[in-house]
Amino acid sequence: MNTNRKIVIVGAGFVGTSFAYSLLNQGTVDEVVLVDINKEKAKGEEMDLSDGLPYAPHKMNIKAGDYRDCSDAYIVVITAGLAQKEGQSRLELAEENTKIVKEITENVVNNGFKGIFIIATNPVDLMSYVVSKVSGFPTSRVIGSGTVLDTARLRYLIAEYLEVSSKNVHAYILGEHGDSSLVPWEHCYVGCKKMIEIMEDNNYPMEDLEKIHDNVWNAAYEIIEKKKATYYGIGMALNRIIKAIFDDEKAILTISTYQNGEYGQEGIYIGVPTIIDRDGVKDILRLKLNEIDQEKFNHSCEIMKKNIKNSIDLLL
Ligand code: NAD
Repeated sequence: MNTNRKIVIVGAGFVGTSFAYSLLNQGTVDEVVLVDINKEKAKGEEMDLSDGLPYAPHKMNIKAGDYRDCSDAYIVVITAGLAQKEGQSRLELAEENTKIVKEITENVVNNGFKGIFIIATNPVDLMSYVVSKVSGFPTSRVIGSGTVLDTARLRYLIAEYLEVSSKNVHAYILGEHGDSSLVPWEHCYVGCKKMIEIMEDNNYPMEDLEKIHDNVWNAAYEIIEKKKATYYGIGMALNRIIKAIFDDEKAILTISTYQNGEYGQEGIYIGVPTIIDRDGVKDILRLKLNEIDQEKFNHSCEIMKKNIKNSIDLLL
């Protein structure tokens, strides 16, 4: 594997360009190539983003390109495809986006790509499975954005609720990036104290925990209702994943990871706390889930399996 900081973003829409903008602002990479079926759009985004370069913290190349650029890229991020419309669930995008993501993966691999795939296209757990199957890459090098964004939303809401810094909130959303996700509250810490103990000590109603989760779960629907799409949060979340890889951080992030029985499930991609380094997935952090949380997790996995069987495998 090469050691450059070059990435290719396939899909120069709201998500791809918000991500590129956050890379530009944070100086995370040396080179960003935008590939889109709409070449004019990719070129326009190149020009607009490049105007910001004199004020960026780090020298960087930004260009519109094509799949040949994947040959020496370290990471390819897929953000292309249909997005949710008002009231639509992520799973409803599965069939159409499978065709798009399959075609993109073939183009990337056929152009000699040997690096790490990161997938943001929804439904992201299923699309990660598609990329894994089509590319034939080791599963450690196929990563979905999973519940990294949901986890950020959760931490933000807990921080608001308890009036502490979100940086001191250690809480995770597990499962599908979607309607069946769960929060294992027993494993949620604020500073080094269990969130549940903080709730008890302060006589906060325990029902508020599920209200916080509902708000996370509902956030995308509400944002889409108000402004048609979500993109800044996922742009930052993708940047966080990329940084963990390039800096060989061994950071724990709830990416969508291939399951090999770590949580009692196999053969699917789903969001679990995962240690990431320069080679991709290093290991999965195994939490001892209580019975109720394990049931919720299993339910989320069953949804994935059903969708793989019903539509994804037929299209591959
Ligand atoms: P968008 O419509 O703004 O952009 C999609 C882009 O993909 C367009 O520029 C389009 O031309 C391009 N495209 C379509 N087919 C292509 C192909 N075959 N090859 C190359 N490019 C192609 O949509 P968006 O708002 O940027 O959303 C993109 C995806 O990201 C959606 O599936 C959305 O649901 C998902 N998303 C994921 C998360 C997450 O947390 N994982 C969050 C928000 C959005």
